Amino acid sequence: MTTPLTGDLLIGARTIARPERQPWAVNSATGEVLEPRFVETSSADVDQAAELAWQAFGVFRRTSPDVRSQFLLLIAQKLVALGDELIDRVHLETAIPKVRVVLERDRTVFQLRFFAHVVREEQFLDYTIDPARPERLPFPKPDLRLRQVALGPVAVFGSSNFPLAFSVAGGDTASALAAGCPVIVKGHPAHPGTSEMVGRAIQAAVAELNLPEGVFSLLTGGIDAGVALVKHPRIKAVGFTGSRGGGMALVGLAAARPEPIPVYAEMSSVNPVYLLPAALEARAEQMGEDYVASLTVSGGQLCTNPGIVIALQSPALDRFVASASATLGQVKAMPMLTAGIHANYANGLAAFAEHADVVLEARGIETGKINCTPGAIFSTTAKAFLNDPALSHEVFGASSIIVRCDNVDEMMQVTESLEGHLVGTLHLEPGDTEMARTVMEVLELKVGRLVVNGWPTGVEVSPAMVHGGPFPATSDSRSTSVGTSAIRRFLRPVSYQNVPQTLLPDGLK
Ligand code: NAP
Repeated sequence: MTTPLTGDLLIGARTIARPERQPWAVNSATGEVLEPRFVETSSADVDQAAELAWQAFGVFRRTSPDVRSQFLLLIAQKLVALGDELIDRVHLETAIPKVRVVLERDRTVFQLRFFAHVVREEQFLDYTIDPARPERLPFPKPDLRLRQVALGPVAVFGSSNFPLAFSVAGGDTASALAAGCPVIVKGHPAHPGTSEMVGRAIQAAVAELNLPEGVFSLLTGGIDAGVALVKHPRIKAVGFTGSRGGGMALVGLAAARPEPIPVYAEMSSVNPVYLLPAALEARAEQMGEDYVASLTVSGGQLCTNPGIVIALQSPALDRFVASASATLGQVKAMPMLTAGIHANYANGLAAFAEHADVVLEARGIETGKINCTPGAIFSTTAKAFLNDPALSHEVFGASSIIVRCDNVDEMMQVTESLEGHLVGTLHLEPGDTEMARTVMEVLELKVGRLVVNGWPTGVEVSPAMVHGGPFPATSDSRSTSVGTSAIRRFLRPVSYQNVPQTLLPDGLK
């Protein structure tokens, strides 16, 4: 049995309890408020967490790779030890089916172990030694040695749609801790009990390894807390996953600080999928089924959802649409993560449905239950798509629009018009190679990952993964939030010139 949930804040080694509390935990499948109620973070709490993080930074950044690696492994072990209680709580708060919660827990544990390995390998430190050449003319060349150092305390905004893998002990936290940065998480109010369980596991790991208490804090809920955190002078970087509005607000706050700091915000992405003619001809029906499977997984509440499909008009495209429509017609609506996300989704669908140039091709099955609206597939012409930028914006949920192009020129105009996305997908057969090359030349400038003959959902945690992309997919397209190089977001290079051996950091001696 784990420690019962209290709804308190976790600041360093302390728990902060107060009588005033907020009913943030809600069962999204029933609308019922769940116990306990949660303490709202004050600006004094933010200040305390940030000062503790700053004190911890001096020690934590100097911990050996071995210690940081042990720390990440211990967090992973403690998450596993939470067992079914964690799975049940995530399911209760988010309505994500338990089988998917287990997969997400396993992925979170894998990420922590993966970064434990990355830290131990030390490659991320980029040790580079460029020796002195005193004989060089006209001036001697100095001895130069480079390594990466941690940025400082990082604020992590947990996401609503990945309550484990992109939340309290998720990818941003794992990569920041691996880099040697203390972390203050602003938990998402959509799953505060889950956040507390995971936060307590990290707090216990900090204590067990005698790390400085400020290495980790968890603050719960409230826009004001998030604003105060990003503005706090002790915070040196921000990781965020959520809406474009929220992400851009944080980018603005960080840029307006007396000392601006980087914000790695993952925001909106609609992930264009191209169905090229020979592929459509060969396997339209199968692609229709697979498209709906990718579209409706997790109720479509994934940043990698296939939200735009682009293809040339043809009978084979009609066969694809018929297959996708028949498949979606058998998929029941599932409760969405929060009432707010459900309302946004329902409004987004209504706007598409009322659009004069948009056709509703298919709907999933209504259940009439709270926070449930079924998936929807729309279609439009390339001309209408080019005329109205709103048709290319994210409707977060199982909504997708098929853009019917009259010719390759139109397809390329649509491609040129796209904003930045996390993923671009091409379905192709050998007969499509030339068209694929033309599309890819433009598409690779618009996305962080190119997929061939697959679907954009499902993000491998790998050294070669890029989960990022040009704006508005992210606020900084030069990095990834998944995979080995995520650690680089929380590091910066320092060059040591003519520094004597006695003063050089160990790896540079
Ligand atoms: P959100 O509204 O952006 O909230 C994410 C986090 O940021 C929350 O902790 C929120 O705090 C905080 N926040 C939002 N605006 C802020 C501001 N102006 N200043 C300071 N903090 C701020 O995202 P969400 O609640 O997860 O979902 C809302 C919508 O975001 C969805 O309908 C969807 O459109 C989009 N979304 C997209 C993705 C994606 O991967 N593309 C993922 C999730 C959500 P509070 O909640 O405490 O106010």
